[in-house]
Amino acid sequence: MEKDYYKILGVSRNASADEIKKAYRKLAKGCHPDTHPGDSRAEEQFKEISQAYDVLGDEKKRKQYDQMKSAFSQGFRPGGFDFGGAGIDLNDLFGRGGGGRGRQVHYEDLGGLGGLGDIFSRFMDQGSHFRQARAAPRQGRDISSAVTISFDQAMKGGKVRLTVQRSESCPECSGSGAAPGSSPQPCTQCGGSGTVTMTQGGFGISRPCPRCYGKGMVITETCPGCRGRGSAPARKKVSVKIPPGVAPGTKIRLPGQGEPGPGGGPPGDMILEVAVRADPRFTRKGADLQTRVRVDMVTAVLGGRVTVPTPDGEASLKVPPGTQPGAVLRLRRQGAPRPGTGRRGDLLVTVEVDIPRKLSQRQKELLRQLEKK
Ligand SMILES: [Zn+2]
Ligand SMILES: [Zn+2]
Repeated sequence: MEKDYYKILGVSRNASADEIKKAYRKLAKGCHPDTHPGDSRAEEQFKEISQAYDVLGDEKKRKQYDQMKSAFSQGFRPGGFDFGGAGIDLNDLFGRGGGGRGRQVHYEDLGGLGGLGDIFSRFMDQGSHFRQARAAPRQGRDISSAVTISFDQAMKGGKVRLTVQRSESCPECSGSGAAPGSSPQPCTQCGGSGTVTMTQGGFGISRPCPRCYGKGMVITETCPGCRGRGSAPARKKVSVKIPPGVAPGTKIRLPGQGEPGPGGGPPGDMILEVAVRADPRFTRKGADLQTRVRVDMVTAVLGGRVTVPTPDGEASLKVPPGTQPGAVLRLRRQGAPRPGTGRRGDLLVTVEVDIPRKLSQRQKELLRQLEKK
């Protein structure tokens, strides 16, 4: 029934915090999603390890876990188990013990135990039940989306419009899930309260109604537009402000553009990953840009000016006399803007010297004279 976090991490019950950390790092390395993309077993294992470390790696949670574990292994001792001073015992919560005191404990109470409720639900492997049964409005899920912009857009920033797929509150039923013309009716099982009380072993335990999932209302006629879910997939146009100099792979959070919140909760966010199309003229290194320019031999030897591409168009670059092939010349603040500060990086220009392939008799003469000097 319960997972043994010590076994998952392969450490002994008396392991030091350091040993636990080491064991976690070693295991996590072996199955990290970054190194095992698309491997669902590794992902599952990684989740399990992280869950175990989340508890055992925290001194306070570990202590609570140990206490709970010993209580469970002793088979639900009636009474006497102190939940960190909250005075709830396991028998009360699950209505399994004898010798009850006729007290009611609400599931909601679990949330107030400073994270213990969370551990508790994992411990019982009923986490999904707890969460699903909550009738309270919840925030909608975050959704991920991606946009590809041109190199030029990445440099200058500005508004980008894109169409994204996400759930929208169903327009036919305005999100209620009930067919137009009908409306949700009070649940007959719980009388509209959303909770039912079960009496077991002499005391009552109140829990979310299984028929209406704690909502207190049930839909009698399902909306055909969304099949009663209250939301439907929709395509939506979104306008995004791209900061000048945005780096490829940057994730922009758009508050409130995610999935609608169940039970009237606030919507989630959209996480938009920005991809930038390459520009063959430039290579980006942080805020600095690199480019190449061809210079004829005479300009390289005697010095002069040459035109180079920049993100803003073209610039004239001074080539000092005696410039060697492969030399890197720097144009200050002609690189990419740093998002946030707006301060620009530099443009680094690598010089390629064109060596003439064909020379006239006279040119050859001149070069020979040059060599003799
Ligand atoms: Zn609908
Ligand atoms: Zn009900």
